[in-house]
Amino acid sequence: MPNQTVNIDLRSDTLTQPTQAMREAMFRAEVGDDVYAEDPTVIELQDHAAALLNKEAALFAPSGTQSNLLALFAHCERGDEYIVGDSAHTFRYEGGGAAVLGSIVPQTIPMEMDGTLGLEEIDSAIKPNDFHFARSRLICLENTHAGVPLPLGYAEAVAALSERRGLAMHLDGARLFNAAIAQNRSPEALAAPFDSVSICLSKGLGAPVGSVLVGPRSLIEDARRWRKVLGGGMRQAGVIAAAGLHALQHHMADLEQDHRHAEQLAECLSDNFGDSAVRYATNMVHLNLPSDTYAALAEHLAEVGIRVGRPRWVLHRDVAREDMELLCRAIQGFSIG
Ligand SMILES: *Cc1c(COP(=O)(O)O)cnc(C)c1O
Repeated sequence: MPNQTVNIDLRSDTLTQPTQAMREAMFRAEVGDDVYAEDPTVIELQDHAAALLNKEAALFAPSGTQSNLLALFAHCERGDEYIVGDSAHTFRYEGGGAAVLGSIVPQTIPMEMDGTLGLEEIDSAIKPNDFHFARSRLICLENTHAGVPLPLGYAEAVAALSERRGLAMHLDGARLFNAAIAQNRSPEALAAPFDSVSICLSKGLGAPVGSVLVGPRSLIEDARRWRKVLGGGMRQAGVIAAAGLHALQHHMADLEQDHRHAEQLAECLSDNFGDSAVRYATNMVHLNLPSDTYAALAEHLAEVGIRVGRPRWVLHRDVAREDMELLCRAIQGFSIG
């Protein structure tokens, strides 16, 4: 390798730094007390997100975890259950919040690599109305799941089932815009089968913090109450909402570049390790290598300033086009054994 040191971090798309233009939007933001619902910039962000996803109302939250939790609390009461994939973020990576804080029972279903849960499995997991059982209330899906968009038409099929069985639908849409771009659909169309949707502003969109929950007005009013209970009521939050609004208005189309980069990176990895060791979707590349080989690769990359975490590499707006060549060259410079 040339002894050129770079600084490329592929651990997550949460690592993106706010741009100069974004910081200026934050600097200029008009603010008020958002617990009184008087912050004009938060209101603008919420209105923008609700319109983008064609839902009645929206609520700004400090994190995607809280936004999902608010949805669960608003849809379900104590002793209710929600149906969720066994590797869904909400179930697996949010500290069990629904159960810990909400007394909401998770009913898990095996989750396929494309984020789908079997329709029959969902149907048979829904409990009859009988006091022996927790009350089945909600189905929660995720788009994208580990970078993979839900197959088109799948959410509609689940919505038909949930309607027939009288359940509500929530989408963890942390990376919904990646799916929309990859599938050439509007975010609104992908959100349509769901009552509520949470989106993340601080992943590939590049805002430093924040998430938005959208849904029917009455549900959002309940979520607003729960947000206060959970300590998520923020005051002059327009300073951070401005970053999220800027991201939605100016960064969405850039996600396409991350997808192109993921494809390039996957090609480069396939050339080195074989097609069967690599898969990619939207902005993520998954590597399937023996753990000692992977550890050696990670160390080799770290020596030239390329940081990777687990064998899921995430492309984002702070990985520039020039970085891609360096990245591929670094991979080519690694030989197994
Ligand atoms: C990141 C993420 C969230 C929310 O995470 P926070 O770190 O709390 O913002 C929720 N769901 C998925 C699928 C995510 O990737």
